Amino acid sequence: MSVMKAPENTPVWTNEDRCKACDLCVSVCPAGVLAMRYEPTSVLGAMITVSNPESCIGCQECELACPDFAIYVADRKEFKFAKLTDQAKERQQKVVENNYMVLGA
Ligand code: SF4
Ligand code: SF4
Repeated sequence: MSVMKAPENTPVWTNEDRCKACDLCVSVCPAGVLAMRYEPTSVLGAMITVSNPESCIGCQECELACPDFAIYVADRKEFKFAKLTDQAKERQQKVVENNYMVLGA
């Protein structure tokens, strides 16, 4: 298994070749950072999207939940993560209510 090189100044990133669109990472994110976008070329018609990276708090829940090692979180020593805000929590609630799909699409 190859591990992607961490991009600079990015809290969370994905390997779309591995994503099976299971929604698990989206469901566990507390900050509404992740959502699925419609993607007709993928198996399930959807693909993981880092829609609000500036709100990532670095909790690693997404990385731990992903069964396919398709999402990665920056090292806490190398990246200053955001704090969890009420706005981020509200966005997460809306993403869940929107069947994990990206808002406003
Ligand atoms: S590290 Fe935490 S806050 Fe950041 S995208 Fe993953 S689950 Fe969301
Ligand atoms: S948990 Fe992994 S496989 Fe599932 S949607 Fe997220 S990145 Fe894709």
